[in-house]
Parts: sequence; structure tokens; C-alpha cells
Amino acid sequence: SAKDAGKGCYAFYSPALAHRADHLMKWEQQLRVALAEGQLFLAYQPKIDLNQRCITGFEALVRWDHPQRGLIGAADFIPVAESTGLIVPIGDFVLESACRQLSLWQRQGHGSLTLAINISSVQFWRGDILDTVGRCLRDFSIPPFRLELEITETAMMEYPDLVSEKIFALKRLGVRIALDDFGTGYSSLSYLNRFAVDTLKVDKSFIQAIPHDRSVCVMVSAIIGLARSLGLTVVVEGTETEEQIAWLASVGRVEAQGYLFSRPVPASEIAGLIERFGVCTTRSESLA
Ligand code: C2E
Ligand code: MG
Ligand code: MG
Ligand code: MG
Repeated sequence: SAKDAGKGCYAFYSPALAHRADHLMKWEQQLRVALAEGQLFLAYQPKIDLNQRCITGFEALVRWDHPQRGLIGAADFIPVAESTGLIVPIGDFVLESACRQLSLWQRQGHGSLTLAINISSVQFWRGDILDTVGRCLRDFSIPPFRLELEITETAMMEYPDLVSEKIFALKRLGVRIALDDFGTGYSSLSYLNRFAVDTLKVDKSFIQAIPHDRSVCVMVSAIIGLARSLGLTVVVEGTETEEQIAWLASVGRVEAQGYLFSRPVPASEIAGLIERFGVCTTRSESLA
């Protein structure tokens, strides 16, 4: 009987969880509508080469223009999308929008720009990421190395064997892989090799301690030095002050992404950013 079943069983039917499930279903339903009715869109944030002061590429970040609540950021609905599996069709939408934007840049004469998108670990075990990426590159005639897939350390650690297998298959297609939020998870530098990473993105929590926290400065400069000697592109996230970029530029060749240069902007504002900063024709790894 239910009485004998004990605490575990009771907890399963607790009003709190029922409420949470309710809540999740409500958001799941709204997110489905959002996807079907075109309420999701991408915002683009530039990455600036600190030596040349030009744009190497952009990161696409998903946004939800909710009819009642207004603009909702990724952090507030990606977790719901992940736990309901909706991240798969949302991820397909992000990928297709990204390929469309890349092909537009090619036609506009900005063929050297790269575009990075974020990939959730859920997309590796639900859905067919390899097929979707391959089809997208073909349909829009995108040179594969212009597309970069950002994966967090935490996602890589979740199913390391599965994820590394998929990453190697993606690398065979020619796309670039970035390790996102580096320094916040439990991964070690050996993951750079294991996952054949092209770009290291140093998490904003480190950058925000620069240049005041001496030990963070030592760590960041060591990470940049090591990554650069391995031939990786380094992107520093969350650069907000002139002081930070002056210090970072003195440490090594890095690309900076942060509010100092620009917040993530809608597609309509990309042209203005390109006019203001210019587009780099060579990326940092080829300049040593
Ligand atoms: P992320 O990939 O690490 O993206 C960087 C986040 O930092 C973005 O937040 C960006 O708006 C924010 N940011 C950029 N510059 C600065 C700065 O100077 N200061 C501060 N404080 N923040 C800055 P956002 O757009 O809210 O995205 C949050 C996270 O949601 C992303 O972190 C990424 O993990 C996830 N995400 C975003 N778009 C997608 C997507 O299309 N698919 C998936 N699976 N995840 C996504
Ligand atoms: Mg990212
Ligand atoms: Mg990040
Ligand atoms: Mg993040």
C-alpha cells in the first residue's frame, strides 16, 4: 500500500513537485508556441581581436520575445528547453539561423567572419546533431571552418565518451569546436587535447577579477600562454573595462567579447558594428 511505500513514494506525489511539474508543463507549452510562431530570435555579440581591433566573428545567443513578458534571456529558458527535450528543435532553429547569417555575410563580402553557436549536451544524445550540422552546411554552402560550436566543460564532462565521439565526427565535417566557460567546471587542461578543441573561452568570472586580483592574473596569463602555444584561439568573455583589455592585450594575442565593445545585438544592428570596428581578414592563430 501507499502507507508501506514510505517516504520516497510520498515525495514523488508531493504537492511541491506536482506544482513544479505543472510549472514546467506550462513553460514547455509556451516554448512550443514560441518556436512555432517565430518568437525566438538570435542576438549577435562581436569578438574583437585586441591587437588589430577588428571583428573576427560573432557569437549567436538565443532570445525569446514573449508576447506578455517581453524579452527573456537564454539563461531563463534554456534549462526548461533542456529538461523537456525542446532544446533539440530550438537547437535546429539556432543552427539554421546561424547558417543563413553566415551565407548572408559571404554574399556581402564578409566571408572571413566566423559565427559561434552554443550547443547543449542534450543535443548530443537526443536528436542527430551530426546530420543537422552537415545538412545546414550543405544547404547554405558554408565553408565548415566558419562555424564554431561552443560546448561548456560541464557538458563535455557529462558523457565524455559520447561527447568526444560526436565532437570528433563534427570535426571531420570541418567545423570548429570551442570550450566555453573555461575554468568554471571540473575539467582539466587535458580536455583540450581529448576533445580536440580549437578555441578556448576563458570564463567571465576570471576576467572580472582582472587586474585587481593578482592570483587570477597569474592564472589567466598562464592559461593564455599555454593555449596559445598549443595553437588555440583564445577568447576572453565578459570584458567590461578598458583596464581589463589593456592588461589582456599585454599578456598575449586574444579576442575579447564583452559589453565594453558591444552587448549582444539583433541582426539589424550587425552592419553598424561592422562599420565601426571593421572585419579582420586574418584570425589570430595564423598570426602567432
Ligand atoms: P555563454 O555561451 O557563456 O554566453 C555568454 C553570456 O554572457 C551571454 O549571456 C552574454 O549576453 C553574456 N555577456 C556577454 N558579455 C558580457 C559582459 O561583458 N558582462 C556580462 N556580465 N555578461 C556578458 P546570455 O545571452 O544570457 O546566455 C547565457 C547562456 O545561455 C550562454 O552562456 C549559453 O550557455 C546559453 N545559451 C545562449 N544561447 C544559447 C543557444 O542558442 N543554445 C544553447 N544551448 N544555449 C544557449
Ligand atoms: Mg557561449
Ligand atoms: Mg561562456
Ligand atoms: Mg555561460
